[in-house]
Amino acid sequence: MLRQLIAAPSVSSPDVRFDQSNRAVVELLAEWAEELGFDTRVEPLPGSTDKANLIATRGHGEDGLVLSGHTDTVPYDAERWTSDPFELTERTGKLFGLGTSDMKGFFAAALHAIARFRPEDLARPITLLGTADEESTMDGARALVEAGERLGRYAIIGEPTGLRPIRKHKGVFYVEITVRGRAGHASNPALGVNAIDGLQRVLPALEAWRKAIGARHRDTEFEVPTPTLSFGRVKGGDSPNRICAECTLDVDIRLLPGMERSAVVAELRDAVAEALEGGAWQHDVRATGAHADAFGGPSDEGFQRTVETLCGCSAGTALFGTEAPYLAELGLQTLVLGAGDIAVAHQPDEYVTMEAIERATDVYAGLIQRFCIEPA
Ligand SMILES: [Zn+2]
Repeated sequence: MLRQLIAAPSVSSPDVRFDQSNRAVVELLAEWAEELGFDTRVEPLPGSTDKANLIATRGHGEDGLVLSGHTDTVPYDAERWTSDPFELTERTGKLFGLGTSDMKGFFAAALHAIARFRPEDLARPITLLGTADEESTMDGARALVEAGERLGRYAIIGEPTGLRPIRKHKGVFYVEITVRGRAGHASNPALGVNAIDGLQRVLPALEAWRKAIGARHRDTEFEVPTPTLSFGRVKGGDSPNRICAECTLDVDIRLLPGMERSAVVAELRDAVAEALEGGAWQHDVRATGAHADAFGGPSDEGFQRTVETLCGCSAGTALFGTEAPYLAELGLQTLVLGAGDIAVAHQPDEYVTMEAIERATDVYAGLIQRFCIEPA
């Protein structure tokens, strides 16, 4: 299964040069789910023909367990891979391929776990969810929320967590800060307004803001307990002998659960305006592109405890985003739990071990036993 899933490219990217359909992966999953007696629906995303979510359900009722994963992968740099990223390759007990850990391996584990049970033994339904575009826009998860799908009571998202349940994670979004001045001959500063000089004032203001917000918001359950602001990219100017007319700074901001994105953007806007006050610059501060919300965890402590017992470890936190806030919005008690290591995801020579997939299969089977078969 994993070999076939890896061989079906499904890159998603905001950059249209890399973006691909996820249909081939969804169709493979639908075929296997149907063989296991699932009712399957392939739901194209609104306004799209080449992107689709898979919703496959076995059993009936509103209760039950959802096993959820995204069907897309990030783009890749084939040059930096030791072997073909689309050909599952085994070396030293590791299975290499694009999406092995993030997160096509999850589907192989989930389907094998499901196959251990007879349909007639299910007291509550099991749903396999495969979403589109998690790595780019989260449009697949957003479409589920917009459709108001009632999918079940509990959900596991099989992102690579080293099989430790994750109950909270940070949210992430990007902000673009533009400083505009006026070009002029470099020989005389009075002939223009230098945008880079403006940015020089902005940077310490952002550092001060970072310190201040870190003092106001803190959650020691996270490895990095404060919100973060990271300078990611700076662009500007066109020639050393011309006064820089415009430059932009792109920053990555990670918020703790409960923090409001719009309030943070407003604070940054104020900080930048204050830094440039009295100068001749113009500026613009805006959130760009995709974002992922922070996730504050399931409210059902019993669910969390059951999953912790099955995994043999306590739930932790993560610094990366997932579709959990969307599933929570659909009323699902949600945890993130899957085979593989997030450190190898989004990297050349991404891999998962067979042993990790087998362990995940056992854990998912235990969850099905508990949430779909045993008395509630
Ligand atoms: Zn992922």
